[in-house]
Amino acid sequence: MIEVTQLRKSFGVHEILKGIDLTIRQGEIVVIIGPSGSGKSTLLRCLNCLELPTSGRVKVEGEKFADESGKYNEKRVARLRTEIGMVFQSFNLFPMMTSIQNVMAAQIKIRKKTAEAAKTNAEKYLKKVGLAERMNHYPSQLSGGQKQRVAIARALAMEPNIMLFDEATSALDPELVGEVLKVIRELADEGMTMVLVTHEMRFAEEIGDRIIFMDKGVIVEEGEPSELFNHPKHERTKRFINQVL
Ligand code: ATP
Ligand code: MG
Repeated sequence: MIEVTQLRKSFGVHEILKGIDLTIRQGEIVVIIGPSGSGKSTLLRCLNCLELPTSGRVKVEGEKFADESGKYNEKRVARLRTEIGMVFQSFNLFPMMTSIQNVMAAQIKIRKKTAEAAKTNAEKYLKKVGLAERMNHYPSQLSGGQKQRVAIARALAMEPNIMLFDEATSALDPELVGEVLKVIRELADEGMTMVLVTHEMRFAEEIGDRIIFMDKGVIVEEGEPSELFNHPKHERTKRFINQVL
C-alpha cells in the first residue's frame, strides 16, 4: 500500500506537483493518464524516491521515508526502492550484459544473492516473460519488445510488492506493444499491485481498477475506468479523452 499526502515537487521555480493525495491499496491497479508535462512521470518517480518531494509525504506499507523536518533516511529509501519495481519507456538495460546478466546484477549487488541463486531466479523470470530462448543475447540482439520484457524480468526478479510502469510501451513499434501488454496483463491477473502511466487508453480501460486523470500537477478527476472514460465530469477530462480516444 502506498499513501501519498499533499505531495509537492518543484524544479527550480516551477512547481510540477501541486498537492497530490493518493492511496494505492494492495492488489490495486491504478492507471495515470494526462497530457504531456502534467507531472505523471514525476509523480511515479516520487513514489519510489527517485525524486524526493519538495514537501508532503509518501508512505509505503505504513513506513515514512522522511522525518518531520523533511529529511530522508537513506537506508529506508534504499529498502523502499527494492520493494518497488520500476519499468521505464527506455529500457535502461546494461548494453554490455546479456539478458540473464542484466536480470542477475541487482539481485547480487542489492539483494546480496549468490551468483547461483541469482541465476536460478533470473531464469525463472526470463521464462515467465517468454524469453527462455534469449537469455544469452545482448540488448543489441533483441527487439524492443524483448528488451522491455528483459527490463520487466529484471524488476520482477527483485520480488517487489509494487510495480510502476512509466509508458512501458511508448518506445515500441506497434506490432511489439502486444507482447509487453500481455506480460503486464498476466501480472495483473496474479494480483500484483501496479501503477501504470500509459497512452494506451483501451488497455487502461481494460486493466485499471481506477483511472487517475492529471493535468498541470494536480489530480483533476479519478474513477472507475468505464465511468471516467464514458462520463467524465470535468471539462478538462472530457477534452483530453475526446482527443485521445
Ligand atoms: P509526458 O507525458 O511527456 O511523459 P509527464 O506527465 O510524464 O509528461 P513529467 O515528466 O512529470 O511529465 O514532467 C512535468 C514537468 O516537469 C515538465 O515540464 C518537465 O519539463 C518538468 N521536469 C521533469 N523533470 C525535471 C527535472 N529533473 N528538472 C527540471 N524539470 C523537470
Ligand atoms: Mg512522462
